[in-house]
Amino acid sequence: MDFRLGDEAEQLRHDIQLFLDDLLTDDVEAEIYRSGVSHHPGYVSGMIEHGWFAGNWSKELGGAGLDPTSQMVVQEELGRREAPMNASSVSTMVAKALRAHGTDQMRSEIVPSILRGETICVLGFTEPECGSDVANAQTRAVRDGDHWVINGSKMFTTNAHIGDYVYLLTRSNVEVSKHRGLTTFLVPLDDPGIEVQAVYTLSGERTNIVYLNDVRVADAARIGEVDGGWQVLTSSLVDEQSASFAPWLIRLLEEVEAWAVETGRHDDPDVQERIGRARAEAEVALLLRRRCTWMDEAGIPRGIEGPMAKLFSSESLTRAAQDLFDLVGPDALRSFLDPTAPRAGRIEYLMRFSLGTTIYAGTSEVQRTMIAQRGLGLPR
Ligand SMILES: Cc1cc2nc3c(=O)[nH]c(=O)nc-3n(C[C@H](O)[C@H](O)[C@H](O)COP(=O)(O)OP(=O)(O)OC[C@H]3O[C@@H](n4cnc5c(N)ncnc54)[C@H](O)[C@@H]3O)c2cc1C
Repeated sequence: MDFRLGDEAEQLRHDIQLFLDDLLTDDVEAEIYRSGVSHHPGYVSGMIEHGWFAGNWSKELGGAGLDPTSQMVVQEELGRREAPMNASSVSTMVAKALRAHGTDQMRSEIVPSILRGETICVLGFTEPECGSDVANAQTRAVRDGDHWVINGSKMFTTNAHIGDYVYLLTRSNVEVSKHRGLTTFLVPLDDPGIEVQAVYTLSGERTNIVYLNDVRVADAARIGEVDGGWQVLTSSLVDEQSASFAPWLIRLLEEVEAWAVETGRHDDPDVQERIGRARAEAEVALLLRRRCTWMDEAGIPRGIEGPMAKLFSSESLTRAAQDLFDLVGPDALRSFLDPTAPRAGRIEYLMRFSLGTTIYAGTSEVQRTMIAQRGLGLPR
């Protein structure tokens, strides 16, 4: 086996690094960190200019026609550099759902606008009382002639305060089993019945709680069939469930290795052992995700490989972050933007960031359940 990705992929990696070197000045990084919002206009325009914004879409649809390996290299580098990509990634994920299940107007107007970087879409699935069991959504959509009236609340609606539309999961039918009574909509976030309130996570990331009070939308805002929301939703979540945090782990290691050299502790056997252990896990995490890409290229449907990549990468990042934080000692407590912090506070930031990664895009318990039931054939 040859695990190298080839000259073309490495050239692409180099090109992305140059783009991010230019974009991510200290000022830009401080601005992103202070706002807690993973979005930046320069990032969006640069990604569009290079053709990487919806890189794996065909050229005729507005992408760059990147093959799965090239697209993976783009994702690896964006993650390793902590690029402000969340709003764009979610918007292109929604664009994919709209292409597959949306109306002609969504396909001809909203999708191109997302690909031009003019429209931001956010995900409104989770509710205050249901996240993992997303099919239990209680936000109610009631039909009123050619319209629907929506009432309820959504939790962790990241970027809703800067977004244009929320891809909303609602309960449209209470007479049937929970998976059969869901309908999805694309709802404009400037509707007067929508209120967005800030929620800040431990890593400083800004997300939101969104209240919907008598929000009235035309039936034309519906995505997919009435009560067919579960099918629409599950096709959208495949990419999320194979998210990988290996690039963030590699970034953490780069910072801790640089710290070890700067402080002259690189010869210390304890330092070497801890870094070595985390390096080995980073390699496994990287390869688990690369296996998903290889399967895509070989035309093999993914099963539990996505959840395995997500589970292992997020847990190894969390493990390594805590172990290496401990290794750096009390100095590691000094945070990002503190000029006296080791490695400009990135070790501390990555420690806080790591904790959320085992929650979003499917918690570790949920990923383990999928692996146990679908992969190992264990009973419910
Ligand atoms: C920073 C951040 C950003 C997010 N952004 C978005 C977004 O933009 N849009 C959106 O819709 N959502 C978003 N989420 C929500 C995220 O998807 C949910 O937090 C996640 O699905 C977990 O749901 P929950 O928080 O309701 O926890 P719960 O589902 O209540 O889970 C609580 C605990 O119970 C465990 N648990 C739950 N069910 C089971 C089970 N059956 N078996 C074993 N253990 C179980 C979970 O693993 C967890 O440890 C975001 C979350 C975070 C933290």
